[in-house]
Amino acid sequence: MNVNQSAPPVPPFGQPQPVYPGYHQSSYGGQPGSTAPPTHYGAYNGPVPGYQETLAPGVSRAPPSLGAPPATTAQTPCGQAAYGQFGQGDVQNGPSSTVQMQRLSGSQPFGSAPLAPVVSQPTVLQPYGPLPTSSQVTAQLAGMQISGAMAPAPPTLGLGYGPPTSLASASGSFPNSGLYGSYSQGQAPPLSQTQGHPGAQPPQRSAPPQASSFTPPASGGPRMPSMSGPLLPGQGFGGPPVSQPNHVSSPPPQVLPPGTQMTGPPGPPPPMHSSQQPGYQLQQNGSFGPGRGPQPNYGSPYPGAPTFGSQPGPPQPLPPKRLDPDAIPSPQLNELPPQQKTRHRIDPDAIPSPIQVIEDDRNNRGSEPFVTGVRGQVPPLVTTNFLVKDQGNASPRYIRCTSYNIPCTSDMAKQAQVPLAAVIKPLARLPPEEASPYVVDHGESGPLRCNRCKAYMCPFMQFIEGGRRFQCCFCSCINDVPPQYFQHLDHTGKRVDAYDRPELSLGSYEFLATVDYCKNNKFPSPPAFIFMIDVSYNAIRSGLVRLLCEELKSLLDCLPREGRAEESAIRVGFVTYNKVLHFYNVKSSLAQPQMMVVSDVADMFVPLLDGFLVNVNESRAVITSLLDQIPEMFADTRETETVFAPVIQAGMEALKAAECAGKLFLFHTSLPIAEAPGKLKNRDDRKLINTDKEKTLFQPQTGAYQTLAKECVAQGCCVDLFLFPNQYVDVATLCVVPQLTGGSVYKYACFQVENDQERFLSDLRRDVQKVVGFDAVMRVRTSTGIRAVDFFGAFYMSNTTDVELAGLDGDKTVTVEFKHDDRLNEESGALLQCALLYTSCAGQRRLRIHNLALNCCTQLADLYRNCETDTLINYMAKFAYRGVLNSPVKTVRDALITQCAQILACYRKNCASPSSAGQLILPECMKLLPVYLNCVLKSDVLQPGAEVTTDDRAYVRQLVTSMDVAETNVFFYPRLLPLTKSPIESTTEPPAVRASEERLSDGDIYLLENGLNLFLWVGASVQQGVVQSLFSVSSFSQITSGLSILPVLDNPLSKKVRGLVDSLRAQRSRYMKLIVVKQEDKLEMLFKHFLVEDKSLSGGASYVDFLCHMHKEIRQLLS
Ligand SMILES: [Zn+2]
Repeated sequence: MNVNQSAPPVPPFGQPQPVYPGYHQSSYGGQPGSTAPPTHYGAYNGPVPGYQETLAPGVSRAPPSLGAPPATTAQTPCGQAAYGQFGQGDVQNGPSSTVQMQRLSGSQPFGSAPLAPVVSQPTVLQPYGPLPTSSQVTAQLAGMQISGAMAPAPPTLGLGYGPPTSLASASGSFPNSGLYGSYSQGQAPPLSQTQGHPGAQPPQRSAPPQASSFTPPASGGPRMPSMSGPLLPGQGFGGPPVSQPNHVSSPPPQVLPPGTQMTGPPGPPPPMHSSQQPGYQLQQNGSFGPGRGPQPNYGSPYPGAPTFGSQPGPPQPLPPKRLDPDAIPSPQLNELPPQQKTRHRIDPDAIPSPIQVIEDDRNNRGSEPFVTGVRGQVPPLVTTNFLVKDQGNASPRYIRCTSYNIPCTSDMAKQAQVPLAAVIKPLARLPPEEASPYVVDHGESGPLRCNRCKAYMCPFMQFIEGGRRFQCCFCSCINDVPPQYFQHLDHTGKRVDAYDRPELSLGSYEFLATVDYCKNNKFPSPPAFIFMIDVSYNAIRSGLVRLLCEELKSLLDCLPREGRAEESAIRVGFVTYNKVLHFYNVKSSLAQPQMMVVSDVADMFVPLLDGFLVNVNESRAVITSLLDQIPEMFADTRETETVFAPVIQAGMEALKAAECAGKLFLFHTSLPIAEAPGKLKNRDDRKLINTDKEKTLFQPQTGAYQTLAKECVAQGCCVDLFLFPNQYVDVATLCVVPQLTGGSVYKYACFQVENDQERFLSDLRRDVQKVVGFDAVMRVRTSTGIRAVDFFGAFYMSNTTDVELAGLDGDKTVTVEFKHDDRLNEESGALLQCALLYTSCAGQRRLRIHNLALNCCTQLADLYRNCETDTLINYMAKFAYRGVLNSPVKTVRDALITQCAQILACYRKNCASPSSAGQLILPECMKLLPVYLNCVLKSDVLQPGAEVTTDDRAYVRQLVTSMDVAETNVFFYPRLLPLTKSPIESTTEPPAVRASEERLSDGDIYLLENGLNLFLWVGASVQQGVVQSLFSVSSFSQITSGLSILPVLDNPLSKKVRGLVDSLRAQRSRYMKLIVVKQEDKLEMLFKHFLVEDKSLSGGASYVDFLCHMHKEIRQLLS
């Protein structure tokens, strides 16, 4: 394996390589397996039923000067028959749509029997008295289970900040209950050894607290002012009372080397734990419980609470975390008084914290560049800022994997149930510090490939026989090195020019494609953009048309351009429509634009070729005139009906006539009910939710759009859809074409210019300007032993291997799942090569290659040690979101739970040291799997609340399909940032807190964002000065709820908050509209929907409850 370990000198990349005219590389194209054989396009050239190109009656030409649009001429009813052959359903991409949705027979239905067993940290569970004997502990644990099992955790959402509820009082009376802050008050520095902690005992513990300082568990205790006090510097978290035994765990016998992910098979547990305290295990880096990172909002609740000394320990590698005890109810269950049952809560600080994991990774891995020279390295988390140095493997910005160490056999893989998948973002944008991939030009011979499997030359190819041949690293085929590519080898067998050639030394690079890689063996023309604007009543009335036309005048100067090109090569065209379509001739020689109306929407064609697609600069005056006139022309329209499919058809036909690829920008407002192909009816039916027919809500209501999409893909016609619905528009159906053509969908419900223009214009500007590859085909090759079997994303597949993308931008990902087809080899590892053939925005045909080498293992522990949970969740969410098209939502959810339980049970069984069955043991790399999975399970698609519309669900489902790992991470687990706790002069983002109502202090202000939504939550007791500084009003009650723009005020706090809002927006691919939410206000329910650790109104479990349920599922599997 030729993995480069050292930094190559900066090579003179991009130079044309010498070409030996005599060499003919016959293997390009045409062969099965080639990435982009010319024949690939052949299939699209045939006639397609339903869309005819012949001119038809119904064209009317308007007079040259633009007047009001002519009345609709003859309607041809239809063409529906042509669509009839395509049934509903199946918008699956690719052939393999089998969804494994069967529950294990032994699994428990989730939710039917809520559990709230104790899941606590070993240290948290310390009893109050003297060190208990093992049996005592057991008894106590049993008692806790009892209470837990009897008492589902009370809904945290309902807690509010008012008078203590019974829960609050019960817990609040417990000074050390982590739930209310004292636990976290003393934050151990990250990595410190955990402390013994007398905290999380439920009040009914039979053993009386030995420490007198414990407030008795009377119910009258005030609710802890848990979030009010600032963290005192150096304040440690509670050490145990003096007589408390040292549950500060002794270092584990087995010390992993620094930097090792701590998932490996741990050594035997410390004797003390195993013999005396079953269930109490060593803390690791503190992510469970006490060792949480700085979260400054939790003050000391009770003055009288014991002050626990800080006992920071040295960073220590520790064995896997153990949560505790038995989730299985015991007979004592019924013996407890009811009020005690309800009191029990598991300490949320004692379960794995996403915030802590993110913080730790930032601290540990944010400072050094990630160098890609070593095979199978797990990259830093997506939430960590880091630079990448390409030394032979693709940057994690391009490819992230669920695991960087793959089981050697399919048996192992099946046992572990860890999906093997890569989330690939082939055109990812890079930070300015990182160079774009070099472009390699091999001249007429084109890039060098393996004759058999067609893999492209890459750093892993092995040169032999003095450099005259190379062995393919993917299929082992021996290939001749063409004369013009020959180079001598050095003493290590490496080509002496290895570091001068990107394709021999880097993970990512581009080749200029030869004409063999082009459609019809012709180099492509530059692409075109066509703006297609709904001018029906709704679009005019909302102000959309006027706003859009005004914006386009300047935006057309910002079309994407290649490198340092002075102007964009992209041509533009314009169409407006309601029930009929209006094409515009904007040829530069015209004094005024000309309109041509096509009313025969059943038989769409393009009434003009010359003058429809133009260069912006040449036709500027005519275009400006057109954009001025459009809002006026339709100002008095009464037409409410629209068509939709014919609009896409027209744009696609226009590109076809111009023989170029391109993008349609559709601005659409309503359900297309006008008589035309693709006509839709309102079929929204919320009664279908939770029935077997729920899946139909996600399926398109007609197959017409899939047929249309297929034609678009063949033409390289990508469709971006901007929706402005006032009611149901059937997003599930309207999204089909954008989805299958690699396009984007934006939705602005109840659009009003004054409220929504900033968001819309920001999205539009970004969308128009972003770099796009057109007419693309992506192929993922793998070394022998695994192969790509399933694909998720916005694209089309007509065979099992080629991902076809009419367009692909830098935000879109394709997720690829791999399965074994043979045994892998530990020594050679596993290789991936993603090749993307595309047309650049200047019309250049290119190949972008990404290579990644992974390790292979014969020990399951190695798999679990090298997993990436964020990527796993990205895959699982996409898998589930596709599953809802074909299976009942409940089946999909159950399958997710079962798979997660299997993954964790396999770890427990094969990798963890023997321990009590009552312990929940999570691999270090997957300790957030339960919390994140729970967020997926209760997301709007899988468990909608009453306020979520059918269109919202279809929209989100569509969005998630193309999300990268960073986007799914924050989408499912939103970021919650306290604003007034950190010093006002601090320029860094404040540390986030966990997404739970318990983390909100009514004296503070928080920002919450998930990549799509942005809230500013204002606590009812926030200082008047803060209110004045931010909102320019004198009291909380005067703040306008639902406000979306903060006043621009000249004070440090206002500047800081507005700056933070801007910075959060800049990090996301879509503009997030701000919504100000006041505590206890109506809007707060909306906000609370995003507090994902809490029980949700739609029935989604709290994190704690879900963890307990997961524990139960795992035990079920193990028993
Ligand atoms: Zn090969």
